Amino acid sequence: MCRAGGENRRPGGYLSGVTGKIALTFDDGPDPGWTLRILAALERRGAHATFFVQARRAVEHRDLIEAAIAGGNEIGFHCVDHVRHSEREPDEVAADVEIGLEMLDGIGVRPHAWRAPWGIETDATRSLAAEYGLRLWGWNVDTHDWRGDDVRRMFGALEAQGGLRDGDVILMHDALGPGALREACAETVALTELLLAEAEVDGLEPATVSACEGVLA
Ligand SMILES: [Zn+2]
Repeated sequence: MCRAGGENRRPGGYLSGVTGKIALTFDDGPDPGWTLRILAALERRGAHATFFVQARRAVEHRDLIEAAIAGGNEIGFHCVDHVRHSEREPDEVAADVEIGLEMLDGIGVRPHAWRAPWGIETDATRSLAAEYGLRLWGWNVDTHDWRGDDVRRMFGALEAQGGLRDGDVILMHDALGPGALREACAETVALTELLLAEAEVDGLEPATVSACEGVLA
């Protein structure tokens, strides 16, 4: 299979070495309309993924968080307020993570993984991650699902870049976040199903980010 890299892709994937794993990651949820459909798709394939949640939505939809965990998936922290850390003072970023982790703790979730809003990390982000024992996660494959691309276009773009690769960390969204240019996440559900089928063909295991943690690039 061709291994040509695109502008959002790093040779060899996000994880280092031969891992046999890929990580499907879903940001901005949970969402009562979409998260369960993604969980069902994962369960049908015996696959696991990571959900980087917005804390208020997680508290509001605790049942979805519990369903995700029951399915062997991981809950990571995304944010309380979805604001770029580069546009906030360090103490505002600190307050966001402190409040967010407290909210998640209130529903029994203690995350090990963190993805900053928009994937933008600053010195404050990194120092807070160290303080709270959170591993920061970016991605190397951006599906651009948020802008409303249909599943054929998203999957086609991945195929054009060589298809799934060992060690890929793939960014998707199971809810509408700020800046979303679509009204629904049905195309993300369809893409998830396609990616899971493709991973099976390629012999790659869709795993949580913490299951991948030992093999970070
Ligand atoms: Zn987000």
